[in-house]
Amino acid sequence: MNDSFLPFALPDIGEEEIAEVVHALRSGWVTTGPKTRQFESEFAEWLGGQVEAISVNSATAGLHLALEALGIGAGDEVITTPYTFTASAEVIRYMGADPVFVDIDPRTLNLDPARIEAAITPRTRAILPVHFAGLACDMDAILAIARRHGLRVVEDAAHALPTRFRGQLVGQLASDVTVFSFYATKTMTTGEGGMVVCKDPAVAKRCRVMRLHGINRDAFDRYTSKTPAWYYEVVAPGFKYNLTDIASAIGIHQLRKANRFHARREAMALRYNAELSGLPIELPPRAEREGDLHAWHLYVLRLQQGAPIGRDAFIQAMADRGIGCSVHFIPLHLHPYWRDTYRLQAEDFPQAYAAYRGAVSLPLYTKMTDADQSRVIQAVRDILAPV
Ligand SMILES: *Cc1c(COP(=O)(O)O)cnc(C)c1O
Repeated sequence: MNDSFLPFALPDIGEEEIAEVVHALRSGWVTTGPKTRQFESEFAEWLGGQVEAISVNSATAGLHLALEALGIGAGDEVITTPYTFTASAEVIRYMGADPVFVDIDPRTLNLDPARIEAAITPRTRAILPVHFAGLACDMDAILAIARRHGLRVVEDAAHALPTRFRGQLVGQLASDVTVFSFYATKTMTTGEGGMVVCKDPAVAKRCRVMRLHGINRDAFDRYTSKTPAWYYEVVAPGFKYNLTDIASAIGIHQLRKANRFHARREAMALRYNAELSGLPIELPPRAEREGDLHAWHLYVLRLQQGAPIGRDAFIQAMADRGIGCSVHFIPLHLHPYWRDTYRLQAEDFPQAYAAYRGAVSLPLYTKMTDADQSRVIQAVRDILAPV
């Protein structure tokens, strides 16, 4: 099988998911309904309760709803990292607000709390940290800054299931809203999907209403409650961000497997760490704080300056050996839209730029076999330490 192509990522969908989807299809209820209700309540329970879980059709939609519910608007500023996917910042633009990028800590690749206060202005309303690759940001520092300056905190937890910060699951921290992604490549998937998690009932209510056209009751409620099914009220110009029961059917079973998936990802990450040592690369940052848990959504190594081959050539050499790699991330300030809109230069965020130039994401997913991983390790060693 050594000549077959090993993709960079693959979802892990089992017979349970397939049977549940078939059940949804046969039930006649294909859009938001009983399976979505069940998925939301099991998700909140999985986080340990005391939170509301609001399913959405993407994390991007969820981040948009979060900012809307918190009242972020035109002229406001939201501090975030340039070392992320564009969704983290585009949602700020949806609200007419401006992202203010703050460079990363090169040790963790996460937003560097030591640089945040210098970026705060009278227009700053919120901080939007991203738990890069599944390693928690320093949330104590970020939440302390937010409290000191009266700012909201929205966590982009697209990589962070399950991630722990000082013993607590991301989703249970003292931020305002946390948003998870169930995109195809994430640690659990519904094809497309996401979950908004928050503790404030008013914020949760606003997210629920805006998720479905600004209507104050959803279709399932309309067809199951005693008030006439035809009656509803539009209270705001909302969005179409609801998750279908077909997707939730997948999510119910993916969530039940999340801890098992994590154990496998963690074991694979540790094996990479052990078997890739001694090469001209920097291994991914690890969870160092007491009680932290790394979700290992991504395994990102960085080629060192003295490596015998550049990053782009390395990825090509891996592809030549039939192995898919990727880059996380092309920092936002290098993309034309962000660069030109905010007149940014590569060196404005030197840590993000430097990380990007060496970054390679290796395949890391539960469908990979030990033999697949051996093949990746052998290829990396062949390319970087030719005998
Ligand atoms: C994947 C991703 C998102 C967007 O998730 P979707 O569910 O695809 O909308 C947001 N932020 C980060 C950091 C991501 O990696």
